[in-house]
Amino acid sequence: MPKRFAAFQFPAETRTRFALLQGETELVEIDNFENQTPVNDKTIPLDSIELLPPLPQTPSKIIAVGLNYPAHIDEMKHENVPSNPILFLKAPSTLLAPFKPIIGLSSWGRIDYEGELAVVIGKTCKNASEATALDYVLGYTLANDVTARALQRQDTQWGRAKNFDTFCPLGPYLLQNEGQNPAAFHLQTQVDGEVRQDGDVSQMRFSIPFLIAYISNIMTLYPGDLILTGTPQGVSPLEKGQTVRIGVPEIGWLENPFQLVAD
Ligand code: MG
Repeated sequence: MPKRFAAFQFPAETRTRFALLQGETELVEIDNFENQTPVNDKTIPLDSIELLPPLPQTPSKIIAVGLNYPAHIDEMKHENVPSNPILFLKAPSTLLAPFKPIIGLSSWGRIDYEGELAVVIGKTCKNASEATALDYVLGYTLANDVTARALQRQDTQWGRAKNFDTFCPLGPYLLQNEGQNPAAFHLQTQVDGEVRQDGDVSQMRFSIPFLIAYISNIMTLYPGDLILTGTPQGVSPLEKGQTVRIGVPEIGWLENPFQLVAD
């Protein structure tokens, strides 16, 4: 069974700690994701700590892939979609821990969730081939590529709409890459318990090995860097006070409330 890791802190603490998940309710603190050496023989109840984005370090960059599921292209009514992957960047300052609120201002207009499988890079990766691309993957987690849709359409560039603080919830756990096929994952998004997105990763236009090879031939990937692999069909706006949950059974559920602030 592949291991699941967490990054966490004790309440009122700022230092990031790392842990191995034991079952569904307990953690064992480890030195880091690489060595995985327990720091003591204690188990820590999950409800006594605060989860953080499950990354070995702050990423140098978050690369996101747009329009990677055919049914999502159809629902967004995009025409003339390029035959190569569409890439954009999210700043590391968008990262948000599980259970923390996504914050939007009323003046931004429509704000959408986008449930996505996220790939965490484990080793420096430059000019990878598709055949060896998965060797650079530390593991898999879940991301919400939150998007201020009205601003995205207004600007035509996506730099503003995708980069507000809190617009990249990540977690809850990192599923260690143990050679499993990421195309076998099934991704679901729920809003207040109602299923909104239900997609098989195998439906992607560009596979995860293809994307790693493609991206690493453009820019060097470093440990902790993240690739958000695109969202399946079923995106829609969030309403004030709603809770979004994004899940893959092998990984867990990333849950965040949406807070709308008047301005
Ligand atoms: Mg997206």
